[in-house]
Amino acid sequence: MTTPQEVLKRIQDEKIQMIDLKFIDAPGTWQHLTVYHNQIDESSFTDGVPFDGSSIRGWKGIEESDMTMVLDPNTAWIDPFMKEPTLSIICSIKEPRTGEWYNRCPRVIAQKAVDYLVSTGLGDTAFFGPEAEFFIFDDVRYDQTANEGYYHVDSVEGRWNTGRKESPNLGYKTRFKEGYFPVPPTDSFQDIRTEMLLTMAACGVPIEKQHHEVATGGQCELGFRFGKLIEAADWLMTYKYVIKNVARKYGKTVTFMPKPIFGDNGSGMHCHQSIWKDGKPLFGGDKYAGLSEMALYYIGGILKHAPALLGITNPTTNSYKRLVPGYEAPVNLAYSQGNRSASVRIPLSGNNPKAKRLEFRCPDATSNPYLAFAAMLCAGIDGIKNKIHPGEPLDKNIYELSPEELAKIPSTPGSLDLALSALENDHAFLTDTGVFTEDFIQNWIEYKLVNEVKQLQLRPHPYEFYLYYDC
Ligand code: GLU
Ligand code: MG
Ligand code: MG
Repeated sequence: MTTPQEVLKRIQDEKIQMIDLKFIDAPGTWQHLTVYHNQIDESSFTDGVPFDGSSIRGWKGIEESDMTMVLDPNTAWIDPFMKEPTLSIICSIKEPRTGEWYNRCPRVIAQKAVDYLVSTGLGDTAFFGPEAEFFIFDDVRYDQTANEGYYHVDSVEGRWNTGRKESPNLGYKTRFKEGYFPVPPTDSFQDIRTEMLLTMAACGVPIEKQHHEVATGGQCELGFRFGKLIEAADWLMTYKYVIKNVARKYGKTVTFMPKPIFGDNGSGMHCHQSIWKDGKPLFGGDKYAGLSEMALYYIGGILKHAPALLGITNPTTNSYKRLVPGYEAPVNLAYSQGNRSASVRIPLSGNNPKAKRLEFRCPDATSNPYLAFAAMLCAGIDGIKNKIHPGEPLDKNIYELSPEELAKIPSTPGSLDLALSALENDHAFLTDTGVFTEDFIQNWIEYKLVNEVKQLQLRPHPYEFYLYYDC
């Protein structure tokens, strides 16, 4: 734990000129405001630094725009992408008139989820380990001027230029679904990934590994250690920030879109999770796959609420283009020790009870990690409190099941509007806890329907040209 006084002393000692204050909007993008060092004092860590919140997506109207960013002293690191010595600090949002935490601030919601866990007495710490996959591309031909949202693709199949320049053609091409994971020169992203990983370490993220992923040239994943709920969400935001900015230095661009390339694997953000109390892990036991009864009920809660949960953990229209059979993305609302088509997997953890956890494989990195982790924790706690047993595990190869057997297994929603209507019908597990407000949920559903679902429906799609151009 770092104190405000330690941060203020560091600013003085290291002659830091600028302080970059970062906070997250509802859809999940970091926003920032940079202040001269003399603007920060002890009150910045309690009352906050004022800013105009009216233009932030999904937040206030212009008539009630004054807000403050409250600095979290545990999140300070020197921003490696800024020329002058600049200390980056992550903030949560307060309403200056009441002095209350702002209930649409995702980091505030995450804190309420942690407080809720403690209040149930079931545990005192929720650990999360997100694995966010992404693509590195050379260029994206997206023409904003044409009509907000038209883009140029190589073919109507939706295959983007995947970053392999054709001249000269050196021949080391990864075929679709074969990127996991030949050595260089087939893998031509080794150095950029190492630079991303080491830069993350300099920003305080406990790094572990990096590798190419299954999809063709440029799908990658970097790994960092699991952490406490808010810490892990902060690290995930730092992860995305560093990855995008290092790519930019190399003249490349990164996308966390779940399904940028038709016909190849998409990018998920599997979330490993477990609950601890008094320094002891609670998910290890003598039930299926070495889980405790508590862990099984947690899985039961996740699976029961999954259709609604996906409205938060898979919150874009593109999310549902990933959740289709055949690409290691989950489509079945079931659990299993090894089956990657099941939504919940229990990774092998040897005999180490501390490593006993479950992996929810549905989420993707277009989700806001603070909201996604908070919502998953609420679903899991609901399962524990109500003893929701998840039923039998799905240990068979799903692709070999008969149509009758398959029909019995519920599947993930097929589109964002279906997930949002599931959320509309099933959100007491989020609001009855006091973690999410009804206002937040209704605002979220409307924001997503109006700005994303409806907007996509209005636009002609390249594939429609393929199907209908010469009708
Ligand atoms: N890319 C796959 C997904 O969409 C996951 C591959 C893996 O298991 O790492 O979830
Ligand atoms: Mg992966
Ligand atoms: Mg995984």
